[in-house]
Amino acid sequence: MVSRCDCDVIIIGLGPVGAVTANLLGNYGLEVKVFERDLEVYNLGPRAVAIDAEATRVFGMIGLDGWLDNHVNKPRIGIRTDVPPFGTPLISIKPDNHRRYGYQGVALFNQPRVERILRDNLKRYNNVRVYLGFEVIDDSSKDSHVVVTVRRLSDNKTHNYTCKYLLVCEGGRSATRKRHGLQFVGSSFSK
Ligand SMILES: Cc1cc2nc3c(=O)[nH]c(=O)nc-3n(C[C@H](O)[C@H](O)[C@H](O)COP(=O)(O)OP(=O)(O)OC[C@H]3O[C@@H](n4cnc5c(N)ncnc54)[C@H](O)[C@@H]3O)c2cc1C
Repeated sequence: MVSRCDCDVIIIGLGPVGAVTANLLGNYGLEVKVFERDLEVYNLGPRAVAIDAEATRVFGMIGLDGWLDNHVNKPRIGIRTDVPPFGTPLISIKPDNHRRYGYQGVALFNQPRVERILRDNLKRYNNVRVYLGFEVIDDSSKDSHVVVTVRRLSDNKTHNYTCKYLLVCEGGRSATRKRHGLQFVGSSFSK
């Protein structure tokens, strides 16, 4: 039993899922630590390219729907590369003016750009601390808390942090999922 945890929630991974989750929890006033192995946003291509109204609504919960409308939701423009050769058109879709939840039905976006704005937005929250260049290498659940072992990649030093909840947002190749013997499950939309 620990008398006090280091924070309410530890998030492993600052990809789009971890970054949105950190923003939501920050907004709710929880004490959050986010550990991300990489120093920069992964930028080898646009990756995810489409956002729907439901996802845009979630951005609205953290005050970023206006930013999306002004900077990202440009269906006529489509997606262009942001690695050499810069600006090469990759994909374009017809404008979709159908609105759901008050937001545009489907729009194209650039994942690295959106990830950067999500990270910038986290600076609003004093209760969210981001650690770049830190890899989570182990975790163990106790009765009242979770112990998370983190390695600082610059000097390989490890440190244990405690939290009430651990959220694993490590993406498809999650080492934590494999360490716990969990299967990768899921499916795609039929349309
Ligand atoms: C080449 C490519 C093309 C793609 N194209 C599309 C597309 O066209 N449409 C689409 O919808 N999706 C596409 N995707 C998928 C989309 O990018 C992913 O679904 C999305 O990035 C998943 O977000 P995530 O936050 O779950 O995981 P990720 O983006 O993988 O983020 C996980 C983060 O966790 C960090 N991390 C992992 N383990 C640890 C650890 N132990 N300690 C600390 N940090 C850790 C990683 O460094 C990473 O930053 C593509 C992906 C790739 C690679």
